[in-house]
Amino acid sequence: MAESIKVSIIGAGPAGLFAAEKLTTLGYSVVIFNRDIKPGGMAEYGIYPEKHAVKDGLRRQFNNILTSDQIHYYGNIQVGEERALTIPQILARGVPAVLVACGAQGTKWLGIPGEKLNGVYHAKDVVYHYNRLPPFSTMPINIGKRVVIVGAGNVMADVARYLVSQPQVEEVHICARRGPAEVKFTRKELGTIIHAIDFAALNAEFDRVAPIMRAVGQEPEKELEFFNSTEFKETPSTGNGRIFMHFLSSPTEILGDDSGRVCGLRLENNTLVGEPDNTSARGLGSMWTLDTDTVIFAIGDKVENKLGLPVLKNDYQHTLEPNYPVDGQSYEAADAASGKPWPGVFLAGWSRLASNGLVGNAKKDGLNAAAAIDQYLHSGNFPGVSLQEIDALVSRFDFPVVRKGDLQRLIEAERKRAEISDPERAKFLTNDEMLQVMGLTR
Ligand SMILES: Cc1cc2nc3c(=O)[nH]c(=O)nc-3n(C[C@H](O)[C@H](O)[C@H](O)COP(=O)(O)OP(=O)(O)OC[C@H]3O[C@@H](n4cnc5c(N)ncnc54)[C@H](O)[C@@H]3O)c2cc1C
Repeated sequence: MAESIKVSIIGAGPAGLFAAEKLTTLGYSVVIFNRDIKPGGMAEYGIYPEKHAVKDGLRRQFNNILTSDQIHYYGNIQVGEERALTIPQILARGVPAVLVACGAQGTKWLGIPGEKLNGVYHAKDVVYHYNRLPPFSTMPINIGKRVVIVGAGNVMADVARYLVSQPQVEEVHICARRGPAEVKFTRKELGTIIHAIDFAALNAEFDRVAPIMRAVGQEPEKELEFFNSTEFKETPSTGNGRIFMHFLSSPTEILGDDSGRVCGLRLENNTLVGEPDNTSARGLGSMWTLDTDTVIFAIGDKVENKLGLPVLKNDYQHTLEPNYPVDGQSYEAADAASGKPWPGVFLAGWSRLASNGLVGNAKKDGLNAAAAIDQYLHSGNFPGVSLQEIDALVSRFDFPVVRKGDLQRLIEAERKRAEISDPERAKFLTNDEMLQVMGLTR
């Protein structure tokens, strides 16, 4: 009997790939459409390049998942409105279930004046650049000497780690809306930049914010100890950049010089209100200015709104009335008009909850979404569609489509390059180079 495709997965990041593996164990054949040529998503293009063990381990797992005969990979295909393929087209072809696992590709901004000035970036621009994701890999990222990062999570720590390794960077200033008790980075990530933190300045900053922390019942000494007791475990970076922390400060305007380049960041001082472990920041109306030539926003991601799904805040909207809940959670996309499930359309990973946790979370989400899809496919008679039909569909596109055999040629070419450089430097910088290596240029 000809193979019947029952599930199409949009996105080959951790959520999509682990979902695909689970679906094959449940007996289904799946196709994956992935925007990038290579699989892996942010595990390939987000996780810090020097985390070799984690990245290599995940790459091995993903390559292994893709060896399954029941998983068919189509890379270099972006799904969405005004794209080669839309979700309604996939459903109309007879694929009964679509799993949206395309991460959170949009960017969040504060919406303050000056965000369009030269020298203002979103963390994603920088992260994709140093992780060599085309086209960001070849985009000039013009980092100056004195950089501000807005945000205090793990992505901030990665970006700061990169910045202090850059020879021209002298100072990196981290601005957080709330206080030391509310920072979102883990001790592990702090350990990658702790060597560069200016402790004299940090102590002075703690002295400044301590009365505000105490007023809401927090213990500044405990939070300072978090910094003092964190050990540096990485290879020392090549740069000399120092890191300065600024708490209780909200950006209000980015200032530019006559050439249109950033020259400063205006910030409002905040105080804390609420309970010790449930605070919010309240502006005090007093302002200060930080001189800077580069501002990087590391305030989280949101989904992009061109996929053809309703967006609620930062995520694709999931229905609150799921027919197939798993672990009490909804993995079903909402219909824009009714809020009820859009039959056959499911969500997983950062598409379901943007910026939500590490690869392990995305994996669990993918597995749960696969279980929800399994329930759905058991609820009716869904014949599916033949692989030949899908293959014929993508073969008509006027751009090269990357299949599993092609990927193997790319992996082999990168492996050869990695023999003479580190695996991250072995990555090709452009899609054209990758397509050429795979013999797919037209
Ligand atoms: C800077 C940074 C550093 C991180 N570091 C770590 C770390 O050290 N350890 C850790 O465990 N986790 C880390 N994470 C978190 C981890 O990357 C995420 O948890 C995980 O990648 C989310 O998986 P996902 O599959 O939901 O989305 P993604 O990984 O974003 O994958 C989405 C996939 O969908 C594809 N896609 C996007 N749009 C479309 C479209 N329209 N059509 C078709 N395909 C599309 C993309 O090409 C991509 O392959 C980090 C995240 C960031 C941002």
